Amino acid sequence: MRKSDELRNPQKITRSSKRARAPRQQKRSRNFNNKKIEHNGITYDSQTEFLYHQYLLKEPAVKTIEVQPTYQIIEPYKVVCKRCAGTGKLPSKKTGNPINCSLCRGKTKREKGGAIYTADFKVTYIDGYEEVIDVKGGPVTDVFSLRRRLFEAKTGIELIIIRHKNNEWIRE
Ligand SMILES: [Zn+2]
Repeated sequence: MRKSDELRNPQKITRSSKRARAPRQQKRSRNFNNKKIEHNGITYDSQTEFLYHQYLLKEPAVKTIEVQPTYQIIEPYKVVCKRCAGTGKLPSKKTGNPINCSLCRGKTKREKGGAIYTADFKVTYIDGYEEVIDVKGGPVTDVFSLRRRLFEAKTGIELIIIRHKNNEWIRE
């Protein structure tokens, strides 16, 4: 009885724990370990980002580290109102007389918010040289690729991509 219980139990535990973990592991692998980590009041987007910060903190050549610096890669912009075709007026449903367009409020144009890119780190070295860094744990997406080009076009700074491979930090 006992022997068979001992034999059965480990199997049961293994099976049930595997089942319980499976959905979480799938999610993590899909997001390439993009599990948020909180440490010293900073929320890191991934374990790799957190580890690279710890690495930077120990680098003697590093003077200052700015975590998650933001850059306005697209300025707020205006578009011609689509509802009134840029006239600012629409006929009133009740009287037929022109009234201010309800979408642009008679302004003829609408303002859109532009876009902000948040890098992982801005590093200033002792010699004054600055770098903007993005730590990548998985393949680069089309959205990231476009953000990178917008950032570089706007700032004239080449974005540095860092990857963690075989326990080493690789610069692309
Ligand atoms: Zn309008």
